[in-house]
Amino acid sequence: MERITGGERRESGPDGEWVTRRISGSSAAKAYRCPGCYQEIPPGVPHVVAWSSAGDGDDRRHWHSSCWDKRAHRSVRHPRY
Ligand SMILES: [Zn+2]
Repeated sequence: MERITGGERRESGPDGEWVTRRISGSSAAKAYRCPGCYQEIPPGVPHVVAWSSAGDGDDRRHWHSSCWDKRAHRSVRHPRY
């Protein structure tokens, strides 16, 4: 049985399957450190939360939307390899 709650998506990466959720600016109340670029995501900025679908959400991380997208694309394509 599959559970789909509002706004969650599954995405496969090089390091397993992730569940992502888009956070709107109004619900982003804190600053977070983005693991993609190590810059801060200030409060009020829409971004992406991702956690491993194998875990229970303890490893959830907050990413800039663009950093998350770049991460996914980097893992899928190796055009000059
Ligand atoms: Zn970032």
